[in-house]
Order: sequence, then C-alpha cells, then structure tokens
Amino acid sequence: MPPTANAAALIRHTVLLHPAIYTTTFSKTFLTTTSRAVSRSCTVIPKVTSRTMASSCSSSSSKGGLEKLPSSPVRLLRTTSSVRLWRRPHLLDHRTVALVPTMGALHSGHLSLIRRAARENHHVVVSIYVNPAQFGISEDLDSYPQTWDSDVAQLVKLDRELADDGDNLGRISAVFAPSTKEMYPGGFPGQEVDSKGSFVTITPVGELLEGRTRPTFFRGVATVCMKLFNVVQPERVYFGQKDVQQTVVIRRLVRDFMMPIEVVVGRTERDEKDGLALSSRNVYLGERRRQKATVLYRALKAAEGEYKRGGRKRGEILRAAEGVVEGVKREEEGKGVEERVRFEVDYISLADPDTMEEIEEVDPARGGILSGAIKMLPVEKAREGEDLGHSGGRR
Ligand code: AMP
Repeated sequence: MPPTANAAALIRHTVLLHPAIYTTTFSKTFLTTTSRAVSRSCTVIPKVTSRTMASSCSSSSSKGGLEKLPSSPVRLLRTTSSVRLWRRPHLLDHRTVALVPTMGALHSGHLSLIRRAARENHHVVVSIYVNPAQFGISEDLDSYPQTWDSDVAQLVKLDRELADDGDNLGRISAVFAPSTKEMYPGGFPGQEVDSKGSFVTITPVGELLEGRTRPTFFRGVATVCMKLFNVVQPERVYFGQKDVQQTVVIRRLVRDFMMPIEVVVGRTERDEKDGLALSSRNVYLGERRRQKATVLYRALKAAEGEYKRGGRKRGEILRAAEGVVEGVKREEEGKGVEERVRFEVDYISLADPDTMEEIEEVDPARGGILSGAIKMLPVEKAREGEDLGHSGGRR
C-alpha cells in the first residue's frame, strides 16, 4: 500500500498522578497518563530458512561463523534455533536473561529499558521485529520507520557504555532480528478481525480503549510476545509505561498462561523541552503538528493536577483535561489554513490499574490510569517547502 501523503497521526499519553512507577506489580497508588504517535513499516531483514545449528551459524557474515554486530561482541541472531542454541548454556549456568522487545527505530526510550535490563540481568536480548499481526489492514505497516543502521549503531554504542559501567550486572548479549517467515511459520498472519490462525487474545482488556479503534492490535501484540517469550525464554521482560495498556495485556498473558517471567515496566522517556513522549512514530508529525502534539500531555497533566489538589471524581478530573483540549482547539480554529493544526480526541480515559475499565472515582489506595489518544488530522494546506513528516505525514 503506498503511503498516503499527510494523513492523520495518532498521539497517546500516560502521566503519573502518584508518581510511583510500577515495576513487577502494580503500585496501588498511581494514576498515569499515556501518549504516543503511531506508525509502522516492515524492516525486512534477509531471512535464514534453515533451522539447523550448522546453518544458523553459517548464516553469519563474519569469518568466525557467528554473526555479530559490527565491531562488537553483540550476537546477531535471526532464527529461533540460533536463539535456543545461544540460550541453553545460560540456563545451565543460572545466568538471568532479559528480553526487551522492540520494533526498531530505536530512541532513548528503548535505550532506557535496555539500560535497566542490563542493570538487573546477566544477559540482555533486544528483539527488533516489526510484527504485521499488530497492524490493522489500513494501518502503517508499509511506512513504519526503518532505521536498521542507526539501530545497530545505537546498540553497539550502548553496549560499550554498559560494559564500562561497573554498576551493571550484564550488557547486551544478543539482538534477535527474525524474518516474518521465521516468526510465523504458518504463513503471513491475518490482519482482519476474523482472520484465521494461531492467535493469543487477552480480553476484555485488549478490547478497551486502544483496542476499540484497533481491534486486532492487542491480539497481534499478545501473539508476538508469546512467540518471543517462548523463543528467548527470558526470566524478565521489559516494557515501557508509555504503552500502559500493553503492559496490562502482557501481565495478563504471563499470569494466565503461567509463564515463569517477571514483567518489568520502565518509565516513559520524554522530550526534555516539552514533555512529548519519545516515540518511533513521532517522525510522522512534521514540525507544525509536532508543536501541537503536546496538547494531550498537557491535558493529562492538568487532570493529574486536579487529582493532586484533592479531586477524586471522574467528572472533576477529566474536566480539567477537556478544558486544555478545548482551549487549544479554539486557538487553532482562529488561525488560517496554512498555520493551524486540527485534531480529534479519540479517548481520554480514567481507568482501573488492573483492568483498564473506566472508573467513576479514584480510590487513592488503589490509584488509576489516566490515558488518552488524539488523532492529529492532516494539514489542510502546506506552506511553501513545509515538511509534513515521514512518509508525507502518514498516520
Ligand atoms: P516499540 O518499538 O514502539 O514497539 O516499543 C518497544 C518498547 O519500548 C515498548 O515496551 C514501549 O513501551 C517502549 N517505549 C517506547 N517509547 C518509550 C519511551 N518514550 N519511554 C520508555 N519506553 C518506551
């Protein structure tokens, strides 16, 4: 599907009311706000079809037979058999292995998860895989940013840093970058709601909020994570709080399928200047929409402020967020078509931290999740030479 120039872009946010970042279990007293800009495309990495040990070793571009990232000891693994082979001795040696699943287009948010994983584990595996099953049929699989060379450079640099820092238990031991054929041996996964295939569904949480507008998204996420967890067999997995609903889905997956895995949730890394959560998809925005993309974060911070001032009722808390959104909308409507930014609120939610069900009142002993998504609409009229963002601002 060719990228549509200057299409809508989605922004989501999560903010902590009680700034207790949850790690292995939910803090009973936090209230968060989420945002990210969405985009995707397939990082097609040359696939290795043979599953034998010999062939996984001989897939290497290096002389020694084991493929590594350039000028680095980090192993590059492309097949499930090569991961299993790499994994086995660490199990026997009782060395802990962490997995940080990513879709590439790495930024400081991903790196902060890897840093944390290296502090707490002997080995870190970073997976880079753009998973088609979590893209809806009309979503941005084809235009998702592909930055393999930059990803590799960042990982090599970070690994050196980790090795020099005595506070870490481990460092990046391997990058797992499989092909879709490797991850879906039964064939390219269906992207329709009624597609047949081997899927993992986590409901009702996967049907709420993000799952409402993207009905196959969490099915795709849960399915690929189940696969990655089965292949890597990590003791710990690291996910970002930015995608808070995803972390709830993953916790359910691990709990309900009795997987011996600890789910660790890392804090959201944001732009230092204006607080926008870092996201691989922010590149879709272009400068004009990027400047206004903080509206949701500001709205959720206002709602957080209301909570901190003692507001407990849904109406009071969400009204504060709506006030910010409406104010920015009015401001933009007063501008000309070459200046203004238009957006639509997808949802602003105040939800229970365990179920993501909407709540009428926050119990401070339990906390809650304040999250939202807005759709940044296409720029109506571009200025002369205006950059509308990656792929013409698709999504
Ligand atoms: P993605 O590559 O977008 O699928 O993200 C991979 C992992 O990185 C997910 O667990 C995300 O929640 C996490 N992540 C993405 N952006 C950030 C961020 N700004 N701060 C912290 N973690 C993030």
